[in-house]
Amino acid sequence: MAGILYLCATPIGNLQDMTPRVIETLRMVDVIAAEDTRNSIRLLNHFDIHTPMTSYHEYNKVEKAEQLAGQLLEGKQIALITDAGTPAISDPGEVLVRMCHEHHVPVTSLPGPCACITALTLSGLSTRRFCFEGFLPADKKERRTVLEELGRESRTMILYEAPHHLVGTLEELYGCLGNRRITLCRELTKKFENVMPTTLEQALEYYRMEAPRGEYVLVLEGKSFQELRREEIASWESMSIEEHMAYYEGRGMDHKTAMKQVARDRGVGKREIYAYLNK
Ligand code: SAM
Repeated sequence: MAGILYLCATPIGNLQDMTPRVIETLRMVDVIAAEDTRNSIRLLNHFDIHTPMTSYHEYNKVEKAEQLAGQLLEGKQIALITDAGTPAISDPGEVLVRMCHEHHVPVTSLPGPCACITALTLSGLSTRRFCFEGFLPADKKERRTVLEELGRESRTMILYEAPHHLVGTLEELYGCLGNRRITLCRELTKKFENVMPTTLEQALEYYRMEAPRGEYVLVLEGKSFQELRREEIASWESMSIEEHMAYYEGRGMDHKTAMKQVARDRGVGKREIYAYLNK
């Protein structure tokens, strides 16, 4: 019978956030796959865990996932821990999980600390609808596309960032999204935890003077529906009625429904659109 892959969440700063179930599982499994074995050894020593470790990281994630899946199929029990927090969130864990699904190896997740959710709950921004972006892509073209998408996003957005990239990222966000509310969450659960609810403009002003230090999660306000509506109206105003009709018909709407929708968008009666198109 195949073993089980246990995704074990570990503290993002405060060791007391380690759950008893994770400690017990890390003691019970045959091997612990860890993103950074040098970091994780301190955690394991602290909790008196003596299970052998093997490294599983960004640069060996594909071959190593194959190997680990092989061991699981032979019946070994394996736990995955990453540098901190919940495995598979902005780390190579997802590759191993996918590989296990492909080989029909059972996977279970032991929940615990996760930087993005901790930051969201502290942000004071809407938690009803949110999206997680992780680190912005390093590739310039891809990054631009993502930033443009974020500019239209109406949900609260969560991003990860390293201190040495913080100012550059805030500048790009300000350039693409305009001035928005943002909460910068730094060193969560640690001694110098700091939660700064501010605006993109003020955050930039602050961090141009003060060198960023520690780990950051950025939580950004989504675009309001009123603003999205204003932009939509402005875009209709720059179109001719024919272009506006073609827009809806190109998306599969029949002629009559498109006329009704165009009239509604423009705040006029449908007879007016009909008369214009049949003049
Ligand atoms: N898997 C992890 C999780 O559950 O959140 C995230 C791993 S990701 C490689 C590391 C990033 O998470 C950091 O660059 C930072 O943006 C964020 N992060 C992790 N710990 C943090 C903390 N204590 N305070 C603020 N941000 C943190």
